[in-house]
Amino acid sequence: MVWNFHNSYTDLPNIYYSKVKPEISNDKKLILFNKDLAEEIDLNLDNYDENEICDILLGNQLSNKNYFSQAYAGHQFGHFTILGDGRALLLGEHITRNNKRFDIQLKGSGKTPYSRNGDGKAVLGPMIREYLISEAMHNLGISSTRALAVITTGENILRERVEPGAILIRVAKSHIRVGTFQFGNLLKKREEFDILINYTVDRLFPELINESNKYIKFFEKVCVLQINLITEWMRVGFIHGVMNTDNMSLSGETIDYGPCAFLDNYNPKTVFSSIDKMGRYSFENQPKVSLWNLARFAETILHLVDSNEKKSIKIVEEILNEYNNKFILNWNIMMSKKLNLDLNNDNTNIIKNFLDIMHIHKLDYTNTFINLENNNLDKNIFKDWYIKYNNLKNKKFDKINPIVIPRNHLIEKVINESHSGNFESLYEYEKILKNPYDKNIKNKFTNPPTENEKIYETFCGT
Ligand code: AMP
Ligand code: MG
Repeated sequence: MVWNFHNSYTDLPNIYYSKVKPEISNDKKLILFNKDLAEEIDLNLDNYDENEICDILLGNQLSNKNYFSQAYAGHQFGHFTILGDGRALLLGEHITRNNKRFDIQLKGSGKTPYSRNGDGKAVLGPMIREYLISEAMHNLGISSTRALAVITTGENILRERVEPGAILIRVAKSHIRVGTFQFGNLLKKREEFDILINYTVDRLFPELINESNKYIKFFEKVCVLQINLITEWMRVGFIHGVMNTDNMSLSGETIDYGPCAFLDNYNPKTVFSSIDKMGRYSFENQPKVSLWNLARFAETILHLVDSNEKKSIKIVEEILNEYNNKFILNWNIMMSKKLNLDLNNDNTNIIKNFLDIMHIHKLDYTNTFINLENNNLDKNIFKDWYIKYNNLKNKKFDKINPIVIPRNHLIEKVINESHSGNFESLYEYEKILKNPYDKNIKNKFTNPPTENEKIYETFCGT
């Protein structure tokens, strides 16, 4: 089948979205197309040529064009702002054969009522980045929005330099964010807010529909999803970079790959984003920020938790207080698995010790765990640590320590080559990132950057 759109979001009160039209020029080119994902969502485009595929992916052949952009608000670096999809629209909600619903979104499709001063467009480099990294995350086993395609539009767009215009086709369980609820709450129209929350529970957590205290359970579920997600980010050394509340999806998917990057050498204070001057979204701060964002989410639903506000605050606070304990427990289990430690022990010290050594000696986060697996660690540096560790005899590492992560310097390299019309490295790297636990991967994909190749700053690419 091709698209099977049945939109439900547009049944919400119309404050939550705006109908829009994409502005797409005619000179389209299919740069990346994710056949595996197309298959997963029952989209069969085998019988179409490149031009037709572009048209289908961009929705051009649809008889009913019900495109819309979503309204939302959000705390950006702690400051509250009204936002919305300024450069994105939903083609529709695609329903698969086994009744799964996916948002199909175009990112970079032109101005919308939420564009403020922006042009609503996106450029090739950042869209390739999002494609590669979001798919790498998925292949690492981490919940994420997916990338179905990147299409260039033939336009030249002025950013820091002139760049080719591009559109990413993004697939997500939903795009409902903490910021969507902040927007709903802002209007102080209880009825319209309650419609949004009931819609979200029905769509994301249908098992809760008949629960008596479903809003509390909903909040708990969202918290657990975040705890699991951030733990997974820490497992692979991922730094999101812009954990604003509008970039936290209630589905528990990683969303919005702007200035994100993976750690090379381990330093818990690492920040890549050029705009994060205070280190708010540094590697080690991610659990704290996620908790802060969840507290902003909790504020929007207080009136539904209990009719007595004090009681309601108390219930929510108890759930938030549990966050830290649950996170630490989860993180300890994850790190213990990375080091192949006995889960029945308290491994806090030996884990901390290992991380400290990596930090002091500026060791590569990914490769150090692989070296441990291969019994290849520097015996001098780890001499004292090895005295406490004797777990290699019974090796049980299973898809826990990746061999390949999307390294910033390699991403930049393929983007630069793509700008000059050479996509060979891009296609090669895309393939490599499909099997991040493959032991037979060439060193050029696993080596950390040399001093010259190191990248210290990443940009939003808006
Ligand atoms: P982000 O940093 O990608 O989460 O974007 C934050 C906000 O800025 C969102 O409301 C985006 O839709 C909006 N935005 C980002 N880039 C553009 C652009 N080129 N034109 C208009 N709005 C944009
Ligand atoms: Mg965003």
